[in-house]
Amino acid sequence: MARRPYDYIIIGAGTAGCLLANRLSRDPAKRVLLIEAGRRDNYLWIHVPVGYLYCIGNPRTDWMYQTVAEPGLNGRSLRYPRGKGLGGSSSINGMIYMRGQARDYDGWAALTGDDAWTWKNVVPDFKAHENHFRLDGGRDPELAGGGKFSDWHGHGGEWRIEKQRVRWELLDAIAAAANEAGFENTDDANRGDNAGVAYFEVNQRSGWRWSAARAFLRPVRHRRNLEVWTDSLVERLTFARTDAGVPRCTGVVVRRGGTPTTLTATGEVILAAGAIGSPQLLQLSGVGPGARLRELGIDVVRDSAGVGENLHDHLQLRTVFKVSGTRTLNTVANSLWGRLAMGLEYAFRRTGPMSMSPSQLGAFTRSDPARAHANLQYHIQPLSLEAFGEDLHGFDAFTASVCNLNPISRGRLRLRSARFDDAPEIAPNYLATEEDRAVAAASLRQVRRIVAQPALARFAPEEWKPGAEFATDADLVRRAGDIGSTIFHPVGTARMGRADDAGAVVDSHLRVRGVEALRVVDASVMPVITSGNTNSPTLMIAEKAARWIERSI
Ligand SMILES: Cc1cc2nc3c(=O)[nH]c(=O)nc-3n(C[C@H](O)[C@H](O)[C@H](O)COP(=O)(O)OP(=O)(O)OC[C@H]3O[C@@H](n4cnc5c(N)ncnc54)[C@H](O)[C@@H]3O)c2cc1C
Repeated sequence: MARRPYDYIIIGAGTAGCLLANRLSRDPAKRVLLIEAGRRDNYLWIHVPVGYLYCIGNPRTDWMYQTVAEPGLNGRSLRYPRGKGLGGSSSINGMIYMRGQARDYDGWAALTGDDAWTWKNVVPDFKAHENHFRLDGGRDPELAGGGKFSDWHGHGGEWRIEKQRVRWELLDAIAAAANEAGFENTDDANRGDNAGVAYFEVNQRSGWRWSAARAFLRPVRHRRNLEVWTDSLVERLTFARTDAGVPRCTGVVVRRGGTPTTLTATGEVILAAGAIGSPQLLQLSGVGPGARLRELGIDVVRDSAGVGENLHDHLQLRTVFKVSGTRTLNTVANSLWGRLAMGLEYAFRRTGPMSMSPSQLGAFTRSDPARAHANLQYHIQPLSLEAFGEDLHGFDAFTASVCNLNPISRGRLRLRSARFDDAPEIAPNYLATEEDRAVAAASLRQVRRIVAQPALARFAPEEWKPGAEFATDADLVRRAGDIGSTIFHPVGTARMGRADDAGAVVDSHLRVRGVEALRVVDASVMPVITSGNTNSPTLMIAEKAARWIERSI
């Protein structure tokens, strides 16, 4: 029996998809279906913050992608985690709340020719769903430069932002060392200029992870006009031609329990499958680079050269320093008593290392004083390991991960075959430009300068990676290739742009160009990556898009 059509079908219950499902189902007259390939989020390690250690690299929660062998990384292929299941990547991520810099969004507005994307016009979308702890209890701090905290942040929304619930003596000393090296503190990295040193604020509530599913989906699951299908894989989009001969997206083919079912949408289909899933599905459905699709035997619905192109990400260079005279998570977690103490502390107080996001201390700095803005982000962790998914080192150490926020290298995502089950070829193409290599070398030098400051002397830091013997720029670039890894921020693979921009996949309202009734709303539409972590910017995109979808504009 044919199913009744939906008004909206949303593909992917990740960061963007959960917010969209919430907003689009607020009108009870609209029937909304949210389809998620992964499972429900009834898995303890999703909700306990330190559980990211067990969710990354776990097929229950991670798509377990792998990049190609990357020339810039000396031929290494990286694990490329993407969240799978309700909440998507927000269920396995590092929980850092970060908007990026004002100039990122002003740049998007210039690239798209649409003022909707200026910083001034995106701040209200960030605020719309915020619930910021600094505004709890009716407080509204005055800001040093004038104005109120509430001019910039919201309260009462779904997206909870809290302080971290653990502190490490060593991290306080690293913050002091960064100050000694000339970097000021900042009291809020989310007002458009994130330069400075600060503990990250996190998306948690009372010591639990606050994923997009917890925030946006759980409170509205009772709505009768909202259906949520898990364990349901969308294999492709379906199209018909309008009288004018334009392809119109009519629905999806979804595999649920082995049998493919075709579902229809009378309003729109919204692709929110993420920066890997969305361009993969577009191409499998015939929207992508025509010649390549034909080679794979896929009927071309719309020749769109930009689908899968412009893949970029933040590459983190994970420097590691051994320390003495203090304990880090490495030795705490490697001892039975340490684990017991951590477990008890979390069980009774929801504090301590189990409440920990992977990175606590952050800093935004310039790799070169001549730059106008911070272009490096530090994620500093009181732990070290060879790679996520592997054991912590047996010695005490900290990791100062540093990434270039504004890489200019661009990679791509291509299909290997016409089958969804063949994971796409992911080639981020890190460190492919002279500029990115120069920034990498400069950032490794900057780490050394911070670590050499007096505030850290009592811990006798000893460089483990990249290794003090690597001194020249050429050495440092090569070592950057050895120790570089994704910080899990792929974006750009279905980027927005102006009508005359042949590589733009969607217009500035995120409608797929040349096709009707189809939008992409997720991290893949970012034309250029933001200068910081990408989860909350993706929510902001979804917040804005939901209003456009409701008004069909
Ligand atoms: C390990 C990790 C750590 C990170 N740390 C941070 C951090 O601390 N702070 C921060 O701001 N950002 C962080 N990020 C990045 C941030 O989480 C992502 O940018 C953001 O979640 C992207 O949202 P999205 O909606 O584009 O995609 P996702 O949240 O990945 O959602 C896509 C969803 O679509 C589903 N899907 C895909 N294909 C199909 C299909 N064919 N059929 C049905 N469903 C499908 C997926 O299973 C998934 O649920 C991290 C990411 C990861 C992976």
